[in-house]
Amino acid sequence: MHDFEDCTDVLRNLYAFHDNELTQAEADDIREHLMACEPCLDHYQVEDALRLLIRRCCAEEKAPDDLRVRMRATYSRTVIITESTD
Ligand SMILES: [Zn+2]
Repeated sequence: MHDFEDCTDVLRNLYAFHDNELTQAEADDIREHLMACEPCLDHYQVEDALRLLIRRCCAEEKAPDDLRVRMRATYSRTVIITESTD
């Protein structure tokens, strides 16, 4: 059985996790890691938001407001991090 302690391992399996292609135990491990590891959680949320946005864009005209706010928050945080590493 997999033990997703390594971030690389988690990130590599995010797509499978999104698509529910993992076993229950594997999915639980990833969920556990995401709760404890902020970089991985951020990555997961960006993936999640992008997928949702793509799906919504195909079905509807606009992305819902809460999604836009979430994406904007993610991006502004990225900008802040980039600027502070001057
Ligand atoms: Zn991680």
